[in-house]
Amino acid sequence: MAIPFFKEMRIGGYLIKQKLLGRKRYPLVLMLEPLFRCNLACVGCGKIDYPDAILNRRMTAQECWDAADECGAPMVAIPGGEPLIHKEIGEIVRGLVARKKFVSLCTNALLLEKKLDLFEPSPYLFFSVHLDGLKEHHDKAVSQKGVFDRAVSAIKAAKARGFTVNVNATIFDGHPAEEIAKFLDLTVELGVGVSMSPGYAYERAPDQEHFLNRTKTKKLFRDVFAMGKGKKWNFMHSGLFLDFLAGNQEYECTPWGMPARNIFGWQKPCYLLGEGYAKTFKELMDTTDWETYGTGKYEKCADCMAHCGYEPTAATAAINNPLKAMWVSLRGIRTTGPMAPEIDMSKQRPAQYIFSAEVQKRLSEIRKDEAAAAQEKAARKASTAA
Ligand code: SF4
Ligand code: SF4
Repeated sequence: MAIPFFKEMRIGGYLIKQKLLGRKRYPLVLMLEPLFRCNLACVGCGKIDYPDAILNRRMTAQECWDAADECGAPMVAIPGGEPLIHKEIGEIVRGLVARKKFVSLCTNALLLEKKLDLFEPSPYLFFSVHLDGLKEHHDKAVSQKGVFDRAVSAIKAAKARGFTVNVNATIFDGHPAEEIAKFLDLTVELGVGVSMSPGYAYERAPDQEHFLNRTKTKKLFRDVFAMGKGKKWNFMHSGLFLDFLAGNQEYECTPWGMPARNIFGWQKPCYLLGEGYAKTFKELMDTTDWETYGTGKYEKCADCMAHCGYEPTAATAAINNPLKAMWVSLRGIRTTGPMAPEIDMSKQRPAQYIFSAEVQKRLSEIRKDEAAAAQEKAARKASTAA
């Protein structure tokens, strides 16, 4: 299912408006993580390695809506954790759709069939089902047998009920191009759009061996796109982002393009890297030292080619140079010939490892909040009894 035309129009209109207003930094998609708890434990996941006190926290529906209002991005992606575990997820999505936000609900689909009644089909809502490849590959990636079959069954059930469904695949090293091509053929059979991103090398992911570096990523995507000539793969990406994955564009990342809001606050600097938190979106924009992040600037960004950093760059490039964007979309992705020069990595600053300290800080805040709430409850009880 392609992105509805009016959605492209609205997002294009939003980008042009930002340009006309002369804004240097603006968000395109809010990455909203209302919880970190998940019902799977994928080997490449860098999101669920938290103590229970954190995994048990939820953003309230009101906090989710406030984040969307505060940030103002036209789209809201809801990853997690697994958002369908959140008891108020139906309400959260309804409130966002009522605000005319395009909502991409990202799910591993284990609970999707059971929870379809919580949602109503709308041009503003689409399910983005986590599917990393064909059956054997996906079940291995998510460390559980049978998940692929359940996801495919849920995709069919959602489509039969009139929902728009896409799949999103994270690509790791060792996934043969031929298999990725077959997986993309399957998405055509299922009648769904697909987004693909090379996995970001999360420092907390259990499997550290299978993250792609930039050279391998570009080569792999070239091989895949070469096999797709003449096929009807329906990518949910801009042509320029795909061209970037194939090594034909040299882009710097736009970390503020997809800002992340989770139970800790606004994450600095992006959805992938948690290097501190801001209380408000404005504080995030004003106090993050943006110039110190990105490939060539920071060691942790060295191999990143993920959509959340580079799709906003590609979208801005398309607005600044529509003829080039049109040319790429007409000609298709170039899969041979020289690649664009790689960003100079010689001056990147060394990685800082602050994750454990941040988690400890958040844990002590949570404990303080819980102690205050318990005290308040006890005081209320005492005054009622008196
Ligand atoms: S389904 Fe997503 S959030 Fe859950 S463990 Fe897998 S990658 Fe992480
Ligand atoms: S390159 Fe950009 S998007 Fe990727 S981790 Fe670094 S700051 Fe985040």
